[in-house]
Amino acid sequence: MKCPICRHGETEKGFATVVLERYKTTLIFKQVPATVCNNCGEEFINETISSELFKTAKQAVEMGVQIDVREYLVAA
Ligand SMILES: [Zn+2]
Repeated sequence: MKCPICRHGETEKGFATVVLERYKTTLIFKQVPATVCNNCGEEFINETISSELFKTAKQAVEMGVQIDVREYLVAA
């Protein structure tokens, strides 16, 4: 699809690194499936995946995690 940010590039399947900060918790997710613009580099993550990330972040906050780096695991 055409990129809605720069309106020039095309989005392609790829991976993104997502950083979530909640209170004192910083979570870094690597290898998150995303579509990435080949022009401006904007990353688009679908709703299913982002709600999954938020859920994980909430658990980490409750557990008192300060910083964590993890790879996003695609549910088999
Ligand atoms: Zn773009």
